[in-house]
Amino acid sequence: MTDLYVDPENLEEILEHIKSLKTLGEISEYCIEIFPTWLVGKIPKFSRDYPHLTKNWKIVCDNIGTVPKEIILVDRVFFDNNHKLIHTFSELYTRSGFVVRQNHDWFKCKVCGDALPSETVFDIFRNSKVNVPTTWDSVCTVCK
Ligand SMILES: [Zn+2]
Repeated sequence: MTDLYVDPENLEEILEHIKSLKTLGEISEYCIEIFPTWLVGKIPKFSRDYPHLTKNWKIVCDNIGTVPKEIILVDRVFFDNNHKLIHTFSELYTRSGFVVRQNHDWFKCKVCGDALPSETVFDIFRNSKVNVPTTWDSVCTVCK
């Protein structure tokens, strides 16, 4: 399978160019130019059923000196050394107050539009003993 998101050969050149970009809008445009399929969508906030996510997001933003903006859904996230450019774009969004999440892990509650986790992510949360609903659902507890 072709890896659409592997670092290009002119990585250093691209990283230099990113430094010259002034706004997040310019960065997004450049990101779409290089990885047209990476940015998939946005959700304004997490469901109230997952308060630890909203709390952690606020803490991250406080540390950076910004405020929470939106959840950015992407095709995939990477943490290895062959995807430094994707990682750089993720970091730039994070530092501007966004959270970057994989599209297949999150979806919108069909009633209120807030972000809910997939069953797989739900199981990870439940096993990590954070406060989550008793069972996974496709709508928020308050939206049922
Ligand atoms: Zn809802």
